[in-house]
Amino acid sequence: MPRPLYFHHPSSLEHDTGAHPERAARIPAIERELESRGWLGFERVLAPEVEPAALEAVHPPEHIRAIAELSARGGGAIDLDTVASAGSYEAALHAAGGAMAMADALVAPGGPGAAFSGLRPPGHHAEPRRAMGFCLFNNLAVAARRALDAHGGARVLVLDWDVHHGNGTEAVFAEDPAVLFCSIHQWPLYPGTGAADDVGRGAGEGTTLNLPVPAGTGDDAYVSLVEHVVVPVAQEFGPELVLVSAGYDAHRHDPLAGCRVTEAGFAAMTGTLRRLCADLGDVPLGMTLEGGYDLGALASSTAATLEVLGADRPPPPGDVAVHPLAAEAAARAARHWPGVARVSAG
Ligand SMILES: [Zn+2]
Repeated sequence: MPRPLYFHHPSSLEHDTGAHPERAARIPAIERELESRGWLGFERVLAPEVEPAALEAVHPPEHIRAIAELSARGGGAIDLDTVASAGSYEAALHAAGGAMAMADALVAPGGPGAAFSGLRPPGHHAEPRRAMGFCLFNNLAVAARRALDAHGGARVLVLDWDVHHGNGTEAVFAEDPAVLFCSIHQWPLYPGTGAADDVGRGAGEGTTLNLPVPAGTGDDAYVSLVEHVVVPVAQEFGPELVLVSAGYDAHRHDPLAGCRVTEAGFAAMTGTLRRLCADLGDVPLGMTLEGGYDLGALASSTAATLEVLGADRPPPPGDVAVHPLAAEAAARAARHWPGVARVSAG
């Protein structure tokens, strides 16, 4: 099996947000930590610019043009939270391009089983026609669409464990039964979407799985939700690719939110996904960087994730108790995914 891949690009440093939590220093913080650990066996790959068709599969040309023109003018505010600088358009093209290239690599015959795209700006709040929440283009949505459209994939599982709801990704795939979008997020919190009874629309009813959690939620509930809700739903869904919106702002030290996840929690969720991917027949697993605003927590949590993501084999299963939040969520999910009820009953 080829080595796992880590996508990066120096343009990530040129998206200048000024005095802002989503700042360029996030990238060297991660890279210094990974460098000190020999990149944990990952092969570093320069992220290309996204191909126009791959970006236009998610965003209409007017949105792409608006970001390009804003950067060409030297940048400015898009909303209260979201800014662009002269270098933002190029950075965003590479952030989406890293995600695209990651999808290409993961679904290619003989490709690596795992990859991480460690670029910025992040993407999961970006809706097709709207940049918001520090996000310009939806990198993960570009990767998922690429796997489905360019490679003839049938089903993609997305797990968004950023502490904020991935409203942009949900908006892209709400009516699409080919993408199962699962999000664990603090509730209530920005952007205000992602209620538990929001399950997708039309042909996509049931393939949106929102798992809101209260402030203060830690490793036990997060890991239990993945183990006892996301995994059984995913087994029933049968994805050919698993993608993670890997934000690290659910960490207990993060300044923007109130969850209490630790490095061990991110590692455990990654291990659970590795076992899922193995059970599904060696389905590839790719992750894109989203939030995470305490530089130390961001760096150590990313490293904890990559240690498990890039390991030769999945870690052995542990005994994960059914947390009350997972039991509730499983009961709700069973409406669309009958396989879940059996798992939660045990
Ligand atoms: Zn976030």
